[in-house]
Amino acid sequence: MGTVGIRGYTFSEEEIVFTRCKFPKLTLVSESVWDGIIDIDATYNDIHIVDSFQVKIGVFRDFPTELPIVNEVGGRIKVIADKYGITDYRDLHVNPRTDTICLCVKQEEKYKVPPGSTFVDFLNNLVIPYFFGLSYYEKNRVWPWGEYSHGGLGLLEYYSDNKVSLTSDDLELLTSNLRRDEKWKSYSKRLRDSNLSKKCVCGSEKPFNSCHTKAADGMSHVLSEVHRLHLSSYKLFKK
Ligand SMILES: [Zn+2]
Repeated sequence: MGTVGIRGYTFSEEEIVFTRCKFPKLTLVSESVWDGIIDIDATYNDIHIVDSFQVKIGVFRDFPTELPIVNEVGGRIKVIADKYGITDYRDLHVNPRTDTICLCVKQEEKYKVPPGSTFVDFLNNLVIPYFFGLSYYEKNRVWPWGEYSHGGLGLLEYYSDNKVSLTSDDLELLTSNLRRDEKWKSYSKRLRDSNLSKKCVCGSEKPFNSCHTKAADGMSHVLSEVHRLHLSSYKLFKK
C-alpha cells in the first residue's frame, strides 16, 4: 500500500468487477488502494442529500478483520472546518495524525463489517453513512445521528447505549484501545477505584458522573461486567 511494513489486500478479478459495478467512479490504483469518487444520494429523517466526495482507501491484507483506512482527498473536510472555524479535526471524525477518517467506535466494527463482508459492504455500511453525515453537518452544523466522543470517552459512551454482556476478550480489547488515549492514566485510576464521583477522566476537576455522564454510565456497565466475570479490575486496568 505504499507504506513500508503494511501488507495490502489482493482483490480478485471478481471483487474488482463487483466493486466497480456498485461504485463505478472508484478505481483500483494499486494492488490494494482505491481512488476516486463516492456519490451520496440518500434520505434520512426526510432530509435528502446528494453529494460527492473524493477519497483514497487503503485495504489491509486481513480485511475485514482490520478495516481499511479512508482519506478524503478533495479538500472538502478543510472547507467544512474553515466554514465553522473548526481547528480540531477530530470534531469531524478525522484522526489529526494520519488524516484518516474515524468511521465508527472500535466496538461497532465487528457489527458493521462482520466476518465475510465484502469491500462493497464496508463502503455501504461505514463510508457512505460517514459522508452522508459530513454533508449533513456542512449544511446544518450538527450530525444527523448521535455521535460518540473522541478517544476513550467514546469507547465508554458506547456501553451506555449498549449494555451488553462482555467477555474477557472484549474487556482486553477495550483496555488496549483505552490505553491509546493520552489520558489513559486517569482512566486507569477510575477503573481501578470504581469511584465515579471522583475526578473525571477528561482532566477536569469535576466528578466523573456529572462531567462526562454518559461515559461514566458506560464505565459503570463495564465495571459491573468485570465483577460478574470475577475478574480483578486492579489487574485488568493497571497503568
Ligand atoms: Zn469530564
